[in-house]
Amino acid sequence: MDEPTRAFRRMTAERLIRHLNRRRMHGSYVETAAEARAAVLSLIQGPGSVIRCGTESVGSLGLWKDIAALPGIELIDPYVPGLTPAEGDERRRRGLTADYLVTSCNAVTLDGRLVNLDGTGNRVAGMIFGPKKVILLVGMNKVVSDLDAAMDRIRDFAAPMNNLRIKALNPAHEPPCTEDGRCHRCASPQKICNAWTIIEGQRDEGRIHVVLTGEALGY
Ligand code: SF4
Repeated sequence: MDEPTRAFRRMTAERLIRHLNRRRMHGSYVETAAEARAAVLSLIQGPGSVIRCGTESVGSLGLWKDIAALPGIELIDPYVPGLTPAEGDERRRRGLTADYLVTSCNAVTLDGRLVNLDGTGNRVAGMIFGPKKVILLVGMNKVVSDLDAAMDRIRDFAAPMNNLRIKALNPAHEPPCTEDGRCHRCASPQKICNAWTIIEGQRDEGRIHVVLTGEALGY
């Protein structure tokens, strides 16, 4: 990262954190993915449980393994190979009362709104209520000017990219965007775009902590 980019991202993050604070959420900023990894781990204290959610930002850093190894932490993992869909959903239900939810966010507006589009819905449900602490790892590549830009980013980029990521792991995952990279506003049973959420603030101050990272993460 060159110096002007470094300065711009830091200043943008500082402004965004002031808006998060105004909305009773916490935020912090680090430059690199390695620092982000350490920042997320420092926010989790055992004993307690952590629900794993589908997120490339967290997964790409290998953080699930690190979280599971923290003293006194139980990782509730619906993605363990071999689980039946019913067993995975049972873990997602348990995750709604976990001590911690760790995930990312599809887009964050410059004035501090958290915008997401979810398939199953447990990720966004838990972000709103349930887990005592929500830790969001968000690369500055996901910060956008306003709500319209957030929704455009998610529909036109994040959702097709996440579908392609899932298809790379499971070739049977074939909603129409995996054919041409465009959202068709589909009604596929495999659709990952079922529930929009906009989090405007928190009643329980500091329950949500956003770790912003200068280095791009996820889609
Ligand atoms: S085509 Fe369907 S699954 Fe793909 S991004 Fe659009 S709504 Fe989501």
